[in-house]
Amino acid sequence: MKIHHHPSDELLLDYASGALGEGWSLAIATHLALCPACRRAVAGMETLGGGFLTSVAPAPIGDDALDIVMARLDAEPQEPAAAPVAEIPRGAEPVLPQPLRGYLGGDAGDLEWRRLGLGAFQVPVAMEDRRTSVRLLRIPAGRPVPEHSHRGLELTLVLRGAFSDATGEYKRGDFQEADDSLEHRPHAAPGEDCICLAVTDAPLRFSSVTARIVQPLLGI
Ligand SMILES: [Zn+2]
Repeated sequence: MKIHHHPSDELLLDYASGALGEGWSLAIATHLALCPACRRAVAGMETLGGGFLTSVAPAPIGDDALDIVMARLDAEPQEPAAAPVAEIPRGAEPVLPQPLRGYLGGDAGDLEWRRLGLGAFQVPVAMEDRRTSVRLLRIPAGRPVPEHSHRGLELTLVLRGAFSDATGEYKRGDFQEADDSLEHRPHAAPGEDCICLAVTDAPLRFSSVTARIVQPLLGI
């Protein structure tokens, strides 16, 4: 697996210092599970940060997001949800790496996918920290996601299949940071459904009137 799109250094640094909230931390931690390069980068930042923090007065970053993530790893998995709406083939390795699989209590094929409209499905990921909205999205192979822009930040991590937009192609492990300057029309690659983890801190802003009208109904 070759990963071409990684989180920014700013995000990795915030993660390493514990400054990120739970939803953002989950996206980074799940990317790290797939990306040795970023694991090394974060380990280096933590080493540097340890020395730095001892020489500087404590800053008000004190969020226990990382502790919450780690605690969830130890938590009992939930009961498997009802039957999935479509069969997801099982490969040699799980579609959902840890810590994400622990949050959801199973792999992609074990989950109760909810119809999102336009052929797409979602599974909300429950967070203790409600400042972000976290969900798994499943976009049918070869189909577009409605064009949208963002009021806030949106992090997307591809876990299966691929999508592409004007900024490039994103496959398993690839990570996209989108802010309110990006208006894009992601399109799932043909072949297999695209499953990705999406973390947002504000509702998406759809360009088409129809999409805007159905948006409240879909909860996206
Ligand atoms: Zn990476």
